[in-house]
This record gives sequence, structure tokens and C-alpha cells, in this order.
Amino acid sequence: MTPIPQHPSATAVPVRAAVIVAHPDDETLWSGGYILEHPEYLWRIVTLCRATDPDRAPKFQNVLERFGAAGEMADLDDETDQVPLPQKELLDTVVHLAAGISYDLILTHGPDGEYTRHRRHSECCQAVVELWRTGGIFTQRLWTFAYEDGNGTYLPRVRPDADRREILPHNIRQEKLRIMTDLYGFRPDTWEVRTTPGEEGFKCFDSPKDVRLDTAAGHTS
Ligand SMILES: [Zn+2]
Repeated sequence: MTPIPQHPSATAVPVRAAVIVAHPDDETLWSGGYILEHPEYLWRIVTLCRATDPDRAPKFQNVLERFGAAGEMADLDDETDQVPLPQKELLDTVVHLAAGISYDLILTHGPDGEYTRHRRHSECCQAVVELWRTGGIFTQRLWTFAYEDGNGTYLPRVRPDADRREILPHNIRQEKLRIMTDLYGFRPDTWEVRTTPGEEGFKCFDSPKDVRLDTAAGHTS
């Protein structure tokens, strides 16, 4: 795993990092601790869905502000029946959201998502990996969220095969929870707040040829 470059000089170029997720709140749930721990990065946080959701779209703007991040939302279908997205529309949307920027690091969903089961999470991962392979987006490293929920038998937790895992410091964990409750407005007894991981995990890749989409679940769609 290539280390993220440190830039000790104030005049050095800052690390450019993107978070590409299906929904507003995924960035906080699965990587909010890492984002909070690196306010010096130039963050761009984008979502595939919910741009026209009158509830979540303005909340996402508040979350971007808290993270000190730029960002954008797209409005791909997010109905509960989770019909597969047309491939071209999906890829075109991710290219648009990545905004032609060359990143040091991109964070996105795992090939199987983080729990059982949301198709948009898997589709998001597949699109990012496909575009990294074909030159549609540019990044030095890709980290995919590494969580599983035992086929729905427990709340998502860091996968045993994660390349990087961190138990969040108390203050970071508390701030992550505050974003979920105060900025997104989830009540403390909701699945989202109960899930909000106090430990974060990632699979880390330096090259698209190292990414395997056929994970433990044996399928990606
Ligand atoms: Zn989601």
C-alpha cells in the first residue's frame, strides 16, 4: 500500500481526495472519521443519488460545510425496488461527479456494499473501478469501504480482511455521531445511528489491476 504523501511545507500541494458514494450519509457512516482526521486534505464529496430530495439535499450541503469539502449530488434512480442502473448513465454520472480532477486518493463503497444489501453501493464501486481501469477517472490510490454484516445478522463492522482499520478516537467518534443526528437528523434509535461505526476499515489499492470485484459473496450485482 503506497502511503499517502505528507506535505510538511505550507507551500506544498495539498492532498486531493474524493469520496464517491451512492447516498448522502454514506460518506459519514463509512469514512466520516477519516475525513474529520484530515481537514488539511482538499476534499470533494459526491453522491450518485438524491440531488432533488428536498430533505436530504440541503442536509448534505450542511455536512459538506462541516467537512470543509466541495461536493455535488447527482440524481440517479433510488427507488426501493433497486432496478439496476443503465451502465452508460452510471459511468457518465461518475465521470461528471469526479470533475476531471486528478486525485491522490478516492474513497468509495466496497464491491459488496457494507451491509445486506443495497445495489447502488455495489454499482457505485463497480463504476469507480471500471473508470479507474479505463482512464475515465484519475487517482493514485483507491480505498474501498471494508465492512460486512454477516448477511444481516449484525450491524456492519470492519471486515477481517481490511487492509487498514482504525478505532476512532472518542472525540472523532462523537463528532461523527453528531453529524448523523444533528446535521442529518437521524434519531438515536435509527439503524443509521446505531450502525455508525466507531471503527473504520478500508481495502487499499495502488492500481486498478489489484482490485477484485468477485468478493466473498461471489457476485457483484
Ligand atoms: Zn447508501
